[in-house]
Amino acid sequence: DAKNQGGGRFSFYSESMSDQADRRLEMEHQLRHAIARNEFELYYQPVINLRDNQLVGVEVLLRWNNENLGQPGPDEFILIAEHSGQIVTIGNWVLEQACQQIMAWSRAGFPALSVAVNISSKQFIDGDILASVGHALKQSGLPAAQLELEITEGLLLNDTPTIREIFKQLKMLGVHLSLDDFGTGYASLSYLKRYPFDTLKIDRSFVKDIDNCQDSITLTNAIVAMAHSFGMRVIAEGVENLNQRRILRDRHCDMVQGYLYSPALPADDFLDWAKRYSEMQHSKHI
Ligand code: C2E
Ligand code: MG
Ligand code: MG
Ligand code: MG
Repeated sequence: DAKNQGGGRFSFYSESMSDQADRRLEMEHQLRHAIARNEFELYYQPVINLRDNQLVGVEVLLRWNNENLGQPGPDEFILIAEHSGQIVTIGNWVLEQACQQIMAWSRAGFPALSVAVNISSKQFIDGDILASVGHALKQSGLPAAQLELEITEGLLLNDTPTIREIFKQLKMLGVHLSLDDFGTGYASLSYLKRYPFDTLKIDRSFVKDIDNCQDSITLTNAIVAMAHSFGMRVIAEGVENLNQRRILRDRHCDMVQGYLYSPALPADDFLDWAKRYSEMQHSKHI
């Protein structure tokens, strides 16, 4: 703790600053080789329809197995990759791999799932997201309607005609657009009218205390009603217990994802989970 360092306080502080800078530089360096060294892995978290409890899709979450850095989480390395510009290459890789995996499952006879991929604002601004999405779809053969792009409100803060045009083109391609982490940023409600989102994802910070806080329930009610009136579906993130699920279902939330069902899993584990889940669903209906 810096406060206990007495006279050493300043040097302690600057040292930790440079530690941070070192880690950042090292991360940037390691990120440059991550794809070639096969260090990235896609994890899949199930998305469940609340009406019939069916598995309807997955969200793809990126994991980085890097020994030097001790498996940093996406919250850390995505930020670095955004600052360094590497996110465009990484993001394209994620898109391609995700589409290919879902198609591979489809071809193996697995029911068609929608696949949600997180897209960084930088990929919209610095990359050619239209070309990347088009390429990933074409290369994999995945129907556009099965691909969902998750965008955060940060992108909409620099609301420009260009971004609106890209949105329009993506919709014309047939992909779905989701507004991720809704309720955490500064999104003005007018964005919902201006941008053609198909889905709104309620951030898990709302869901967290929905089972013991009337205000959270009231807010959730309002968000769901508003989203539905704009013709959007609602997914709640971070559902961890049955009580939260019940409240969300009573409030007509459409879909959920969270540890109650499963955390994000490597491809093979996800497939095992999905088989077990479907068997469980069948045995319940008999
Ligand atoms: P996100 O898009 O909001 O993803 C949801 C996060 O919540 C994931 O964290 C997921 O593992 C976690 N989560 C899911 N269910 C629960 C639950 O019941 N309880 C709790 N406590 N957490 C839950 P993760 O995988 O660490 O990802 C963090 C963020 O990193 C993501 O937030 C997303 O913004 C970003 N990210 C992940 N993969 C990618 C990617 O491929 N590209 C980009 N641009 N960003 C990514
Ligand atoms: Mg997301
Ligand atoms: Mg996200
Ligand atoms: Mg989110």
